[in-house]
Parts: sequence; structure tokens; C-alpha cells
Amino acid sequence: MNKIKSLEKIGVDIWECKYLGNSGEYELKIFMDENYGKSSCNCCSYFYPCRHIREAKKVILRRQKVRKLFGLFNKINSVCRSKWELYFS
Ligand SMILES: [Zn+2]
Repeated sequence: MNKIKSLEKIGVDIWECKYLGNSGEYELKIFMDENYGKSSCNCCSYFYPCRHIREAKKVILRRQKVRKLFGLFNKINSVCRSKWELYFS
């Protein structure tokens, strides 16, 4: 079950996330660059990064992968189209 309520990109490599946990809603800030260690979550976990941060990171990575694939598809598509127009129009 995915408990992430919202996930929003607020900077180049910064994401803001609302996570519905066992004892309420947590607010997270995830840095996806070398500042990952500064990512924060307002839960009271003794572990760092807590599971909310790790879970959110997984979802962000998945989104970035999808976006990358989509960008690649668009590129191939436009190259094909221009070749098509070159030969057949
Ligand atoms: Zn947490």
C-alpha cells in the first residue's frame, strides 16, 4: 500500500512530500542530489534516513525513470517523424 499523499517537486533536486504514517501525517523534504543526507522528515524515528524518506526516495526515482523514458520516446518519435517527412513528403 502506498501511503504517500502528495509528492511535489519544489526545486531542481528537491521534493516535498506528505506521508500518511501510523500516527498521523508527516512532512518530508527530500534532496535527490549530494545533499540527500539533509533530507528531513518530522516523524520521531531514531533511524536516519527513516523509512518515510527511503520510501519517498523510491517513488521519486521511479517517477524520474518514467519521465526519462518518456523523454527518450519523444526524441525517437520526433527523429522518426523528421526522417519520414524527408523521404515521403
Ligand atoms: Zn519519517
